[in-house]
Amino acid sequence: MAELIYKDNRLLFTEEMKREYTILIPQMAPFHFDLLEIALRKEGFKTKLLDNEGKNIAAEGIKYVHNDSCYPAILVIGQMIDAIKHHLADSHKIAVLITQTGGGCRASNYIHLLRKALAKADLAHIPVISLNVSKLEENPGFKPSYRFWIRATVSLLYGDLIQLLYNKIKPYEIFSGSTEGATEKAKHIVKQSFDDSWLLSNGSIKRVTRAIISAFDEVETKPQKLPKVGIVGEIYVKFSAIGNNNLEDMLREEGCEIVLPPLMDFVLFKLDYRALEVDWYGGKKIKKFGANALIKYIEKKRALISRELKAFNYGGFVTFAELKSYVAGIISRGNRMGEGWLLTAEMIELIQHGAPNIVCTQPFGCLPNHISGKGVFKILRDKFPMANIVAIDYDPGASEVNQKNRIKLMLSNAKGILKGKKPVPIKNEPEGEFIVVKG
Ligand code: SF4
Repeated sequence: MAELIYKDNRLLFTEEMKREYTILIPQMAPFHFDLLEIALRKEGFKTKLLDNEGKNIAAEGIKYVHNDSCYPAILVIGQMIDAIKHHLADSHKIAVLITQTGGGCRASNYIHLLRKALAKADLAHIPVISLNVSKLEENPGFKPSYRFWIRATVSLLYGDLIQLLYNKIKPYEIFSGSTEGATEKAKHIVKQSFDDSWLLSNGSIKRVTRAIISAFDEVETKPQKLPKVGIVGEIYVKFSAIGNNNLEDMLREEGCEIVLPPLMDFVLFKLDYRALEVDWYGGKKIKKFGANALIKYIEKKRALISRELKAFNYGGFVTFAELKSYVAGIISRGNRMGEGWLLTAEMIELIQHGAPNIVCTQPFGCLPNHISGKGVFKILRDKFPMANIVAIDYDPGASEVNQKNRIKLMLSNAKGILKGKKPVPIKNEPEGEFIVVKG
């Protein structure tokens, strides 16, 4: 058994552990995390992307995390403890991995809640690894190489591409399961590309993008007009089926085409603030230069993907500069906790690109996203009369029936909008009293 070594009261993940331990990764966004897991394996880590689900996850989370904590923390920690206690054999050969955003939001502190929960569950011998870009915690056995970060960037770019194509094609497929087949093929293409020497070269991006689009283009579809429904909100409940009670499945069963914003926009949003705070509060110019250069570089690569998408008539991604322009005069770009101004921008993007029907998912008590989500509903409805938005709160005690009923009210509006009718306001929707207007 590997020796347990502590530094500053923290159990380290050692080089010996790297050889012997399996790292558990909580699931959030399946299209992206499947690829990120492969990127970690390429670094020589043994990994397991968790797939346990069901009511037991929240139940385990509540046992070890205070129920006033953010709902995503309860679920992420609950999924890990449920897997360790009920699905895995030897807890002495396991480590757990969690992301830390490094921002001011509570997400930066999930790692401490996780350690506390493991200790409470008699699992304090399990090392916790932080995945972050801010050098928040370091471990001798977990030092991802430069190549890992390249592969991680590519995982987000192609994860967004696969997600977009899946959502555009799935509701129209003629043969059930053919879109899933295309998705597996697309993931395999990305996995193979991970061995390319110049993963982010223009040539590699164009080649891989074309191969992915072609895989989806082979799916036979029927012509049909379905209402488009966007999902926005707090990052975990927006993407994770555990967090939003299988919202995507429910919407597809109701006959909708789902539109999910790209995960890469969240990364660009975080980088953007690094540049902005130098202008507003001072700091090293090099920080601003570095953040802006990275945004520009990623955008250049994403533009190549958009170009291919357009060539195949699948639209493309809205640029980050355009997203920023949407919120001018509505919400300050200094609003950076949680999803901050990006949440407002994503709603405007959806409304302006044919998906005025929106489910705004929010963990109960998530103040930042209630401000930039519910807080701007009134102004959005005033500016865009076709906006058909419903806010859904998620927490361990929320009634699933109530959530579904509210979504169905929004959907009956959505069907009316297809026929050119104006949406009717949904009962108990907030009026946006606590909007923070641009400074
Ligand atoms: S965004 Fe909301 S749910 Fe997520 S850490 Fe911040 S407060 Fe918690």
